[in-house]
Amino acid sequence: MIGPDSATHLTQGNITLLSASPFSAETDFSEINHYFAERPLNDLLAWSLVTFGSKVALVTSFGPTGMVVLDHLAKLNPGVKVITVDTDFLFEETYALRERVQRRYPIQLEIRKSTLTPAVQAQLYQPQLWQVNPDLCCHLRKVMPLAEVLQGYEAWLTGLRRDQASTRTDLPLLAWDAKHNLVKINPLANWTRGQVWSYLLENDVPYNHLHDLGYGSIGCTHCTRPTSDPADERAGRWQGRGKVECGIHYSV
Ligand code: SF4
Repeated sequence: MIGPDSATHLTQGNITLLSASPFSAETDFSEINHYFAERPLNDLLAWSLVTFGSKVALVTSFGPTGMVVLDHLAKLNPGVKVITVDTDFLFEETYALRERVQRRYPIQLEIRKSTLTPAVQAQLYQPQLWQVNPDLCCHLRKVMPLAEVLQGYEAWLTGLRRDQASTRTDLPLLAWDAKHNLVKINPLANWTRGQVWSYLLENDVPYNHLHDLGYGSIGCTHCTRPTSDPADERAGRWQGRGKVECGIHYSV
């Protein structure tokens, strides 16, 4: 179940790697989800690295959960691939965190952007597209750049958790991602917000300082506000626009 017999072996950091994904849209992931449900995070991460080799990457915007995964991965396998999408509208604090992460962790960080600069987007669409059509703005600046880079992969790791939003309550540890045509791994699906913050603080993992100022979930400057209820993490995203997801993980 864990990997294909015919896989070739490679070496990356501390991990011996297999290659060639045995998974497809027809795969039944229930057994493997059950297997990892009660096992430590590192077991699933190590399995992901061994199974997919250089064809797996963590995709993160350096949120708290993503930082927990990144911290584990970098220790487990120095040189691990990490992808982040830069919308060109991020907070200074987010860029500062990204630099801190690059200095501290031995990762291969790939920064992806839209081919449209903000100025060209404003010319082609609307000066403030995020106001009049945030779904299109997210599609241009987040969804498309990520879809392009994921074409070269067989699996991606996310920082999603079930307790983050009503849209995420059924989140599995592993599933086939039909949108991107690869395996999607949500290693912290069953972690709580409290567990995440305990890990960050106990292990001195860097996090975005905006969280100390009341921001729950942090995206673009135009669409992110502090929240009065810190437990409702995504309440500060797209406030008043009836939007709760950017479209990377769920359809909007
Ligand atoms: S979060 Fe807002 S500014 Fe950022 S890409 Fe989406 S709509 Fe545009």
